[in-house]
Amino acid sequence: MRTTENCDECVRLTTDLMKILNRLAELATAQITAFRAKDQDTVLLIGKQMEQAVVARNIATCAQQRHMGEHGRVLLHGDIERLKEAS
Ligand SMILES: [Zn+2]
Repeated sequence: MRTTENCDECVRLTTDLMKILNRLAELATAQITAFRAKDQDTVLLIGKQMEQAVVARNIATCAQQRHMGEHGRVLLHGDIERLKEAS
């Protein structure tokens, strides 16, 4: 099997996870804005979207860990940093 540094699947899984984490960050910022505006409907709506994003994050994390298992190793923080730089 290819190394994690030049594996298309590693890059894809990491890209997916980064997109989801960015989405969570955007939602958190939007929710803070809604809280400050005392817009309770929007706070609740964003809360639901965040729950869905957390589920997606968990699925993406599991897929990444499973794939790392296929490489025969545990995912280390340094791997994520190298994959981000490579993508
Ligand atoms: Zn891989």
